[in-house]
Amino acid sequence: MHEENCGICSEQFHRDSEATKLMELGPLCPTCIGMLGRRDPEKFLTLEEFEAALQRYPAPVFATDEELHRQEDAVYREFGPDYCYDYYEATAIPRSELE
Ligand SMILES: [Zn+2]
Repeated sequence: MHEENCGICSEQFHRDSEATKLMELGPLCPTCIGMLGRRDPEKFLTLEEFEAALQRYPAPVFATDEELHRQEDAVYREFGPDYCYDYYEATAIPRSELE
């Protein structure tokens, strides 16, 4: 479980699935995902797609912060201090994968 701040409204929400960061804006709260999908369903994930994604990806990639830190340490050891591990990039789910 991770506490995250929504990339749009900056409200803190409880992220228990990778599905909340399906878009390139970083983690988004379900409310903002729903609003964007209504605004432009071509460009943004709709709430229906989001809910389908929640079914498909019900859990975070790293269940705990410790797990995430272990992954960061492993990347650090492998690639050295200059390599920037982008957690979101590394674990983001492209929309095309939902189809
Ligand atoms: Zn939000």
